[in-house]
Amino acid sequence: MTDMRIPLAGVIGSPIAHSRSPRLHRHWLKTYGIEGHYIPMDVGRDDLEQVLRTLPKAGFVGVNVTIPHKETVLALADQVTDRATLIGAANTLIFRADGKIHADNTDGYGFIENLRNGAADWDPTSGPAVVLGAGGAARAVVASLIDAGVPEILLTNRTRVRSEQLRDDFGQRVRVIDWVQAGNVIEEGKLVVNTTSLGMIGKPELRVPLDGLVRGTVVTDLVYAPLKTRLLQVAEDAGCHTVDGLGMLLHQAVPGFERWFGTRPDVDNATRAAALR
Ligand code: NAP
Repeated sequence: MTDMRIPLAGVIGSPIAHSRSPRLHRHWLKTYGIEGHYIPMDVGRDDLEQVLRTLPKAGFVGVNVTIPHKETVLALADQVTDRATLIGAANTLIFRADGKIHADNTDGYGFIENLRNGAADWDPTSGPAVVLGAGGAARAVVASLIDAGVPEILLTNRTRVRSEQLRDDFGQRVRVIDWVQAGNVIEEGKLVVNTTSLGMIGKPELRVPLDGLVRGTVVTDLVYAPLKTRLLQVAEDAGCHTVDGLGMLLHQAVPGFERWFGTRPDVDNATRAAALR
């Protein structure tokens, strides 16, 4: 009678107490009257495999995965989507009825959906995107920008070799720019994205010169704590169209919730409020 079980999902990481995902998924479960639960699980590296093998037996239909397990889970999954392979990380696991673990990465989907909702006039094909940072999140962003048809990505990162690795993985549409030159290429972007952790509460400020920002440019920050980063404030003052990073977090959660609980949830103001509570 396994189909009579209440579906369980959750998020695995370490640490996990700060995660907003439980608030978000619980809001959707309540909104749609779905009997199910979403649980934060603090799991260390040594226990990850055993936990992943056990959860399906306990009624779990899948989990989100966050730091430090996003890369490791690829080797533990039975099936990995092409985009998760290309990005080199997964954030959403589906525990299939046949016992197999399916791994996907929905960060790029969340990023593009957030832009489409927050900057409906943005045309990906209209010109280059300037991407600051070349970490894990940048890989998902670059993959999704290429998919969306952005003609050129000007990629700049403190550690140049990481940007060069991205260019090698994603191809010649990626042009590597020295970190010290970042301020000089900002004006070329129809879209400017911060994927570094700079500007986040507790981290140093993003100090890339921003005087090249052109009125009308779409500017977005993956950092969502604070919601209005210095980058977004300066961009707003320069007449740019700004999109904060919270929407990416909300949209990346949609495919997992739909697969686990059978309802595609809306991302609306109530969802934002629930995640911020
Ligand atoms: P990551 O893999 O650790 O990458 C961190 C990035 O920040 C790298 O490019 C790193 O450059 C750069 N950086 C860190 N400290 C720096 C400094 N002092 N000066 C210059 N560059 C610095 O982390 P991630 O997973 O990509 O996440 C990056 C940010 O995106 C985090 O704030 C995360 O919370 C946010 N994020 C948001 C969402 C969302 O849904 N909104 C989703 C994913 C991630 P180096 O390579 O030189 O170290």
